[in-house]
Amino acid sequence: MKIMVSACLIGDNTKYNGKNNQNKRLITFLKDYEIISVCPEVMGGLTIPRNPSEIKEEKVINNLGCDVTENFNKGALKTLELALQHEIKVAILKDGSPSCGSKMIYDGTFTNNKIMGMGITAKLLEKNGIKVLNENNYQEYFIK
Ligand code: SF4
Repeated sequence: MKIMVSACLIGDNTKYNGKNNQNKRLITFLKDYEIISVCPEVMGGLTIPRNPSEIKEEKVINNLGCDVTENFNKGALKTLELALQHEIKVAILKDGSPSCGSKMIYDGTFTNNKIMGMGITAKLLEKNGIKVLNENNYQEYFIK
């Protein structure tokens, strides 16, 4: 079985600040699976490092006030294409991200406040029948 995973969770330095969100427990878990790693923001043409962005009223805006919605949509579409090509049924993506978040996102005010919501890529994958999990809840899904 192939699992799609956020590149930053497996240690790739794809975050906006050039760092990662390496999760060793997840990496150990994924050893039994073929993984397809993605960073939708980079796939959408954004650089590393880049300015952080948040979702606000259906748009994605960076902390300088630039509208980067197009990049986020492009990255989401490319991620979906890759998922379909590999017949991905489950993705484990980084929660809290305006691309990858599946339960929580930042509220658009750049004040570190999170609200319930989904990132652009996570939403598109779910809309297309792909189960989107995150680094906090994937075990519940697989342990059933
Ligand atoms: S877009 Fe997703 S994979 Fe890329 S750095 Fe952000 S959370 Fe990680």
